[in-house]
Amino acid sequence: LQDYDLIIVGAGSGNMLPTAEIDGWRIAVVESDRFGGTCLNRGCIPSKMLVYAADVAENVRRAPRYGIGADVTGVDWPAIRERVFSRIDPLHDRAVDYRRRHGIDVFLGRARFVAPKVLSVDGAELRGERIVLAVGSRPSVPDIPGLDSISYHTSDTIMRVAEPPRSMLVVGGGYIAAEMSHVFGAFGTQITIVQRGDTLLAAHDGDIRQRFTELYARRFDVRLATTVERLEPASGGVVARLRSRRGELADVFADSVLIATGRVPNSDQLDVSAGGLAVDEHGHIRTDDTYATSVPGVWALGDTTNHFQLKHMANAETRLVRHNLLRPDAPRRARFEIVPAAVFADPQVASVGATEDQLRREGRHYVAAVQEYGDTAYGWALEDTTSFVKVLADPVSRTLLGAHILGPQAATLIQPLIQAMHLGNTVDQLARDVLYIHPALTEVVENALLALPS
Ligand SMILES: Cc1cc2nc3c(=O)[nH]c(=O)nc-3n(C[C@H](O)[C@H](O)[C@H](O)COP(=O)(O)OP(=O)(O)OC[C@H]3O[C@@H](n4cnc5c(N)ncnc54)[C@H](O)[C@@H]3O)c2cc1C
Repeated sequence: LQDYDLIIVGAGSGNMLPTAEIDGWRIAVVESDRFGGTCLNRGCIPSKMLVYAADVAENVRRAPRYGIGADVTGVDWPAIRERVFSRIDPLHDRAVDYRRRHGIDVFLGRARFVAPKVLSVDGAELRGERIVLAVGSRPSVPDIPGLDSISYHTSDTIMRVAEPPRSMLVVGGGYIAAEMSHVFGAFGTQITIVQRGDTLLAAHDGDIRQRFTELYARRFDVRLATTVERLEPASGGVVARLRSRRGELADVFADSVLIATGRVPNSDQLDVSAGGLAVDEHGHIRTDDTYATSVPGVWALGDTTNHFQLKHMANAETRLVRHNLLRPDAPRRARFEIVPAAVFADPQVASVGATEDQLRREGRHYVAAVQEYGDTAYGWALEDTTSFVKVLADPVSRTLLGAHILGPQAATLIQPLIQAMHLGNTVDQLARDVLYIHPALTEVVENALLALPS
């Protein structure tokens, strides 16, 4: 049995925990796959690097709109893929070396609890005075008849394919489905999206969902209110039997299938019950607002404990847990109520706070305003006819309740509104006291705020 002051399980966000402040502790990091976790190896970073290349291709296709003659004359997928992974792939070895050189024991294996605060990794037993669980999440694979008879992709594998498929059936309508459809669609793959609900991006504000779905339906074969009933191998690919809610059946052929139907926390592979840890009905490890679990000295952070599954959330939780490891007598508490998120598709979408549907459901009073990009000077420059900013505010306190943006740079444009929600600024302060650079795209945000009924 080896004893540690701190054992970190999962070297995604978990690997950011050790800093100079905890030098001198005996630390072990356990990682079953690659240092850097999902975000670096198969999530945010490679997907956004690919999205950028896809954006370039789509912008070239749009060039004639601005009087520029241009054509996408070729897509060199191996070069696109290598740009991404030749940068990412060496980082694992470097990170392991770095930790070992700084006196941290690295175990490259899967940890599971054998007793409270005791983990087993490939036969070794490690006991931690403190343990941080940062084991993340993985793609959830639905129980579709025939799925085990075909080979299919998830976000873990699709970004590393040898060649883009000629056609791809994308099962699911969330952000991963949206981003990967954009990427491979821009590189020439024929995309069919199968979504059980009535729109794509189901968790988003109604106006966003609606506009996004319309735009995707122009670009791709989008089958809404439809499920995959069965999958079968066929020569050169797969045949999917689709069933619409009205009972219509259709057989669709595709070279490849991407399953993008959500993610599940990896806590089930940890033997949490042997560790004495409580989990919720979705398998998230339960923590209090200091991120302490039900076992004293054991913390959890990231996708394995929160249902947002966002890297900026995991980063914030990592900072909080680091503080609490060092100052258990004066812990920081947080519930992270204002959680922004973006979809890096085409169009881009960003969102923070309540949706209009949510406010209606809760019976809350609100005022709303929508401003189209096309009604501002920069929108003219972009020749934009589809993008907009929507803001929702409390009619009495005049603070923001939510903001939703669809269009170029949405994830960047929304940031001042996130700030304002945190700082409790009123929409009138934001609209009238702040100067917005003319004629920048931020004027869309200014105009949406000005358009809020008083
Ligand atoms: C395609 C895709 C795109 C994404 N894009 C974005 C984005 O644009 N913006 C954003 O904010 N978020 C994005 N995310 C989500 C983001 O990647 C996650 O929220 C983030 O990586 C969570 O960090 P984590 O540290 O909790 O888990 P992870 O990064 O998953 O790290 C967990 C680590 O634990 C290891 N592990 C698991 N079980 C064990 C075990 N028993 N023993 C030892 N090690 C174990 C895993 O191998 C992994 O390395 C995306 C995700 C995907 C899949």
